[in-house]
Amino acid sequence: MQHLLKVSENTQLSWCNFSIQNRISFLLQLAKLLLENKEKYAICITTEMHKPISQAIAEVEKCALLCNYYSENAETFLATRNIKTEASESFVTYEPLGVILGVMPWNFPFWQVFRFAVPTLIAGNTVVVKHASNVPKSAKLIQEIFEQAGFPKGCYQDLRISSDEVAKVIGNPIVKAVSLTGSEQAGIAVATEAGKHLKKCVLELGGSNAFIILEDANVEKAVATAVNARMQNAGQSCIAAKRFLVHKNIADEFVAKFKVALKNLKTGNPLDKETQIGSLARVDLAEELEVQVQKSIEMGAKLIAGGNRKDAFYEPTTLTKVTTEMPVFNEETFGPVAAIITFKTIEEAIKLSNQSEFGLGVSIFTQNIDFIKTKISAFNEGAVFINEMVKSDPRLPFGGIKKSGYGRELAEDGIKEFVNVKTVVIN
Ligand code: NDP
Repeated sequence: MQHLLKVSENTQLSWCNFSIQNRISFLLQLAKLLLENKEKYAICITTEMHKPISQAIAEVEKCALLCNYYSENAETFLATRNIKTEASESFVTYEPLGVILGVMPWNFPFWQVFRFAVPTLIAGNTVVVKHASNVPKSAKLIQEIFEQAGFPKGCYQDLRISSDEVAKVIGNPIVKAVSLTGSEQAGIAVATEAGKHLKKCVLELGGSNAFIILEDANVEKAVATAVNARMQNAGQSCIAAKRFLVHKNIADEFVAKFKVALKNLKTGNPLDKETQIGSLARVDLAEELEVQVQKSIEMGAKLIAGGNRKDAFYEPTTLTKVTTEMPVFNEETFGPVAAIITFKTIEEAIKLSNQSEFGLGVSIFTQNIDFIKTKISAFNEGAVFINEMVKSDPRLPFGGIKKSGYGRELAEDGIKEFVNVKTVVIN
């Protein structure tokens, strides 16, 4: 371990002296490799965590998009900023911090890692990554891809360690900061350790996004988006819509159409390009979901569709008559379960939406854009998407508040998380 960290430290000392144009040049090759080999990489993803291959291919393509985005914009983001003061010169520079640790999850085994590693590296840091234990082949492959793209050896290193060893790595003086995407428990463990050593951390944790459908919404469009927002990646996404808040006058129509749309989702072999929904990544995750659904049914929720589990496969499931005390409302459901609750007024919808320990994002469907724009500040979230599902985009900052974590990934905000914002004054 110490040896790997030393390699990372030594590489960083030369890497940070590469010009920004030189660092960026490797991104074009990285994007090229991703696109040329997307099917091969997608097979690795699907084999390890079972997402349908078409979604794994889209994930790899999105990584290429991220590379292209930072290759076009990083130089501008990191450029020295002159600030007018009474001094003869004053400006701000953005300098790397050193070796940064990433602790990454399995749900988007490529995307989560790339969105951490690419901006962090381009800012002049080197990275060491502890990937999730159920995606070791993806973990190894990603390091190979960075090396094949020409990044100097040591820029990106895969640490094959268990979660028990993460604390030791955070405490190591070589490591300057840490970024984690994962569960609340993992977030607490990492933030505690980082705090102990006064090291910066960025946390991208769980979410229980509300998906609100107002009375005037286009229900057809809302249903089509809702299915995708909940069922993509078999529901294993922090930004998936989990709690559906539907105006009571359109609830019957929404539920009927949603049920039909779920029935039409194609299940089957995840390596088949037609498959739309596969099993969860692990049996224990499906079992946990089953318990959340069962408990909610015992508390009075009505099962409209699904509800069965076979090993790691959990049927797309819909529950109505959900109340705020039920696990499907007040816990994160990391699988294909839609919890539907009705409301009468916008105030009630906002209150329900905010009644969550998480604060990652919210989707609102309505035709009255002027009206909903006046309500945006009432939502305690990192993102508000109107007539669209919450999704990450390299051009937009991504992250949450409350128990969804802190800090931002992507866009200009993301590349500035792991830099020293250095103030210079010359008189
Ligand atoms: P974890 O949070 O346990 O795993 C994510 C990463 O954190 C993995 O690399 C894991 O390593 C590591 N990790 C776990 N515990 C610690 C710790 N104490 N200290 C340091 N690192 C740690 O997710 P799970 O796989 O257990 O999934 C459980 C739940 O987490 C899901 O149901 C979902 O609610 C949430 N989750 C959220 C994600 C998101 O995108 N925000 C992604 C994944 C999960 P290892 O694999 O070796 O345990």
